[in-house]
Amino acid sequence: MEITRRAPGPHDVQIEIAYCGICHSDLHQARAEWAGTQWPCVPGHEIVGRVSAVGAHVAGFRAGDLVGVGCIVDSCRHCEDCGDGLENYCDGMVGTYNFPTPDAPGHTLGGYSQRIVVHERYVLRIRHPEEQLAAVAPLLCAGITTYSPLKHWKAGPGKTVGVVGIGGLGHMGIKIAHAMGAHVIAFTTSESKRADAKALGADDVVVSRNPDEMAAHAKSFDLIVNTVAAPHDLDAFTTLLKRDGTMVLVGAPASPHPSPEVFTLITKRRSIAGSMIGGIPETQEMLDFCAEHGIVSDIETIRAEQINGAYERMLKGDVKYRFVIDTASLAF
Ligand code: NAP
Ligand code: ZN
Ligand code: ZN
Repeated sequence: MEITRRAPGPHDVQIEIAYCGICHSDLHQARAEWAGTQWPCVPGHEIVGRVSAVGAHVAGFRAGDLVGVGCIVDSCRHCEDCGDGLENYCDGMVGTYNFPTPDAPGHTLGGYSQRIVVHERYVLRIRHPEEQLAAVAPLLCAGITTYSPLKHWKAGPGKTVGVVGIGGLGHMGIKIAHAMGAHVIAFTTSESKRADAKALGADDVVVSRNPDEMAAHAKSFDLIVNTVAAPHDLDAFTTLLKRDGTMVLVGAPASPHPSPEVFTLITKRRSIAGSMIGGIPETQEMLDFCAEHGIVSDIETIRAEQINGAYERMLKGDVKYRFVIDTASLAF
C-alpha cells in the first residue's frame, strides 16, 4: 500500500531506507498478539539507510550520510528520563510504529517502507563500512536491547553471563557480552544451534531441555539475559544465579510466565528484572562499540513479499539469526 511521510520540518531528517530488520516484536504487533494494534500496521524498527534531505536547523546530518533509526522516533524531551538520555523510559516515548502521532494516519508507521522522516535527536550515525549496512540494521533493536542490560548490570571480565534463547536478540547478546570480556554461556532449546553459539562467542552452550546440563551450572551466574518470546518456567534459570545474581527479562511474551518460586529468590537474594531497548546516547554508544569490535548481526536478507514465511520460520526458532528486508524489493 502507499503511505505518506511528512515534509521534513526544521529539525527533521528524511531517510531513504535501505534495509529493515525483522524483530519478533514486529510479529507480536502485526498479529495483534499484544493489545492495541492500530491499522494499517507498518512494523519495522531496525532501520538503516541514507539521508536524502534535512531541515534548515539540522546541524549533525547531511544528505548522503549513513544513518539508523531504532525503536524511538520521539519523546517529551523535558522529563528526567529524557534528561538522562533514557528516552526509552520516557512516559511520552513515541515508538517507531503503532504510537500516536499528528502525522497521517494518526499512528506511527515503521521501517517496512521506502522512506521515513525523523527528528534529528532520534537519528543514529553508522560508522561501520557500507558493505555491512544490511547486517548493521538489527543492532538498532536487537543490539541495543541486549547491550543496555549487559552494561547496566556490569557484564565484563570476571563475570559469568548467561544468554537465554539464540534468536535475533540472543545472538547479539552473545556477541556483545563476549566483546565486553564476560564468560558467556548460551542457553538454547535447539540442539542444532549448539555449534553456532560457540562461533558467535559463547564459551559454553547448554541445551535447556536437558536437566543434567542445567544442573551442572547451578548457582554460577552473575547475570542472565532472557530473550525468550514465549512463557516458560523462570525458576529453571533463577536457580542458576549466584547469590545476588540477576535475571533480566527482555523477551516480551503475549501471555505471562508462570509466577516464579519465591524461595528460589529469597534464599540467595536473587533478582528478576526487566529492561526495554535503550536510550539514544546509549544506542549510539552501542553502534560505535560494535563498529570498533567488528560486530554485526548474522542475517538472511529477504524480499518484502517473503515476510509471512519469515514470520513462520521465526516462530519455529528457525532463523540464523535475523531476517532483514531489502527495501529495494518494495519499489513499484
Ligand atoms: P526471535 O528471533 O524469535 O528469538 C527468540 C528465541 O527464543 C528463539 O530463537 C528461541 O531460541 C527461543 N525460544 C525458546 N522457546 C521459544 C518459544 N516457545 N517460542 C519462541 N521462542 C522461543 O525473537 P527476538 O526478535 O530475539 O525477540 C525475542 C523477544 O524479545 C520477543 O518477545 C520480542 O518482542 C522481545 N523484545 C523485547 C525488547 C525489549 O526492549 N525488552 C526489544 C526487542 C524485542 P532457541 O532456539 O535458542 O531456544
Ligand atoms: Zn525490536
Ligand atoms: Zn521524556
